[in-house]
Amino acid sequence: MKNKMQIAIDGPASAGKSTVAKILAKKLGYVYCDTGAMYRALTYMALMNKVSLADEKRLVSLLDEMTISFRQEADGQRVLVNHQDVTDEIREANVSQNVSEVSAHSGVREALVRQQQEIAAQSDIVMDGRDIGTVVLPNAPVKIFLIASVAERAQRRYEENKAKGMTVELEQIKKEIEERDYKDTTRKVSPLVKAEDAIELDTTGLSIEQVVEKIEQIIQKHDFFQ
Ligand code: C5P
Repeated sequence: MKNKMQIAIDGPASAGKSTVAKILAKKLGYVYCDTGAMYRALTYMALMNKVSLADEKRLVSLLDEMTISFRQEADGQRVLVNHQDVTDEIREANVSQNVSEVSAHSGVREALVRQQQEIAAQSDIVMDGRDIGTVVLPNAPVKIFLIASVAERAQRRYEENKAKGMTVELEQIKKEIEERDYKDTTRKVSPLVKAEDAIELDTTGLSIEQVVEKIEQIIQKHDFFQ
């Protein structure tokens, strides 16, 4: 069987990974997999079921009992847990503020990494997250590490929230991004780190289109895609 094509996109919170990954996947005709949504889905279910976020064993069994899936719709990708649509719920503040605690457990990571690798084995894929180039798809021919200043990332999230009718202070968003970055980069298991062979792209001051264009140029240069 022909190897599947893989594009790994990693980076800190709100660096534009999912926006860019979605556009790229569409252009290339690949499947898009948002691994952050999987950690968020588990966090959401744990909060709903009042499972302690420190209880690794219970989190892993909760994960065993749930099915996370993605559904492609005209207006974007929906995230389903046990066939129930949780796309909006998993973006809420209580999930964002707690997801890093859940994702720090090695048992949780092992189970989700396995699911992510199974998804990648089925189709050509653009996958985004924190450990895609380092752990989930270490042999991906194209690895991108997206970064942007905290000020710009907070501003982008602020505008997104505003467009959705949510009002959260810019300073509050900035604080939350910094906290999540700190937890994700300092955790013991698979911390957020740039893979040695990843290409770092600073998106500060760039539009989404410009970032997509730069990644397309990187892909075109790669032998794998000739
Ligand atoms: O990408 P997003 O910001 O939605 O990810 C939410 C959280 O999930 C991250 O802050 C991180 O704690 C966790 N995550 C992870 N590994 C991934 C993707 C996300 O630990 N591959």
